[in-house]
Amino acid sequence: MTAYGSQSAIIQMYRVSKRYGAKNALVDISLDIADNEFLFLSGPSGAGKTTLLKLLYLGETVSEGQIIVDGLNLSRISRKRVPFLRRKFGIIFQDYKLIPTRNVYDNVALVVEAVGVDRRSIRKLVSSLLRTVEMEDRSRAFPPSLSGGEQQRVAVARAIAGNPKIIVADEPTGSLDTESAMVIMNLLKIYHRRGATVVIATHDTELIRSTGGRVVLLNGGYLDVSTVIPRQRS
Ligand code: ADP
Repeated sequence: MTAYGSQSAIIQMYRVSKRYGAKNALVDISLDIADNEFLFLSGPSGAGKTTLLKLLYLGETVSEGQIIVDGLNLSRISRKRVPFLRRKFGIIFQDYKLIPTRNVYDNVALVVEAVGVDRRSIRKLVSSLLRTVEMEDRSRAFPPSLSGGEQQRVAVARAIAGNPKIIVADEPTGSLDTESAMVIMNLLKIYHRRGATVVIATHDTELIRSTGGRVVLLNGGYLDVSTVIPRQRS
């Protein structure tokens, strides 16, 4: 055991607070996320879910407290090492954030290219990723011509392209119909079974119920400890 919890935690937050000016977005949050956990971060709009996710990959920095991600102390990490931290993450957003002027293939390939492999390997990997999300036959399509569900499938392929240890998803099904939402959840489950830690922010309790996993509830910036439901089999 360390001062911040169990050794098997891939994410350790210790007394973390985040203020935006006078606004307390997160207050005194201590939370461990286990390696290969499938975790929901729940709570109403404005509860601090997005802020918490951003703190993990240094999209924002804490006002107080400490966060350790896979052994990296985020308060001490040098600017030069931030890309190293970011490569540990695959990030999925509610509004997909695909590049509209690049086709499906390129949207995924850009991530793979950044890792620096040869063209043949890139082609193989991108095809396999698009096959996983069942978008291989749309690889030449541009994002605006796709449905929301299809765009999010591409975004999932892009998120897992760098083989990240941790997937963070911010309301990934917030703009999708129930059927597309289940497809996205199933893809996240597949990646979880392959060993990734998955953290999903959502206020959709029905989605949580039908998917399963530990639920951590935020309310007005506070972690609601009474409702931290023990981890279930997922
Ligand atoms: P959630 O994702 O649960 O809806 P957020 O993390 O987006 O919650 O927001 C938590 C609180 O922090 C809200 O009151 C929100 O208005 C505020 N907030 C978030 N981002 C900023 C920002 N960049 N500047 C000022 N206030 C912010």
